[in-house]
Amino acid sequence: MLITRASSINRALDQIGDKWCLLILQEVFWGINSFSEMAAAIGVSKGVLSDRLKWLQQVNCLQKASRDGRWPRYHLTRKSIELYPSALMSLAFERQFYNNPLLDNIDLIHTSCGKVFQPRLECAHCKDEVHAPDVRYVDGPGSRKDERQVKVRRRSSVSSIDNEQRNLYANIIHLVGDRWTANVIALAFHRIKRFEAFHKELPVATNVLSSRLKFLVDEGVFSLVRYQQKPSRYEYHLTPKGLGLYPFFLTLLQWGDKWCAPEGEGRPMHLDHTLCGEALHGIVCCSECREELSPQSVRFVGPAIENRREERGG
Ligand SMILES: [Zn+2]
Ligand SMILES: [Zn+2]
Repeated sequence: MLITRASSINRALDQIGDKWCLLILQEVFWGINSFSEMAAAIGVSKGVLSDRLKWLQQVNCLQKASRDGRWPRYHLTRKSIELYPSALMSLAFERQFYNNPLLDNIDLIHTSCGKVFQPRLECAHCKDEVHAPDVRYVDGPGSRKDERQVKVRRRSSVSSIDNEQRNLYANIIHLVGDRWTANVIALAFHRIKRFEAFHKELPVATNVLSSRLKFLVDEGVFSLVRYQQKPSRYEYHLTPKGLGLYPFFLTLLQWGDKWCAPEGEGRPMHLDHTLCGEALHGIVCCSECREELSPQSVRFVGPAIENRREERGG
C-alpha cells in the first residue's frame, strides 16, 4: 500500500490515466466503439484491450450495449462524457508543443459562432485565462490520506506508443500515460521542486522516482536548476511546456472532484484564483466568442476526420 495525500488528480488518473485507457476513451469520443475497430485503431493486443474495457466499465466510464444480436458497442457514460474538457485541452497542448501532422490538418469549429477556434481554459468568475502560478491550494473538507495500490493490474511502464502517426494525442499520452510520471507532474503544480519533497509526497522506490524525473527532464517538461554547490543539487522546475500541461491537469482535477471522491466526502482541496480572489472553477471556452464549449457545439473538420469516418463506415 502506498499512502499519499488525497488528490482528485491522482484519483482521476488511477481510474483513467493508464495510457491504454486514455486511448480507448479517445477512440470512443471519435465514435470508434466496437472491440475490433478499437483493436485496429489503437494497435493494442486483444488481451490488453479486453482487460481495459472491463476496467473502464467497472469505473463507470463505458457502458456495453448490443442491439439486434450485433457485436456489442461501448458507449460513453455521463461520467466519461464530462472528460470532454480534458480531451479538448490535451488536444490544445499537443498542438502547441508538437508537430503532429494529423492534428495540424484538423480545424475545430465552434458551431455557435461559426469560427475556427482554439480551446482556452478560463476562470468562470473573471474570465481570465488560467495559468498554474495564479492558483492557490487550500485543504478542503475531504483532505486526508489515500491508501493506494502500489501495483495496479494496469501496466505502468514509460513506453512509447507504436502507432504515433495515427494518433492525435500520442505525445501527451506518452507524457502522462504512466501513473507515477503523471503524479510527479501533478506534484510540480503544487510547487514541489526537490527530489526529497517529491519522495515525501510520493514514497515509491527512489529508482522509480528518479527514472520518472529523468524522463520528464528529457522530454522538456522540467529543467534542472542548481540550488546547491559541493555537492551539486538540483531542483526540477516546470518549463513553459510543463506549465502548458496545467489546463489538462486542472480539468482532470475538477472531474476527479466530481466523479472520483469516496461517497459523502468533500473535495480534498479548494482552489483559489489569485487574479480575482474567487474560488477557481475552470471552464473550457471558445477563443473567438468565449462561450463555454460542449461536445454538441464543436465540430472537427479535416482529412484525418474524414478517414476515421470512412473507417467506421459512414
Ligand atoms: Zn478568476
Ligand atoms: Zn465561439
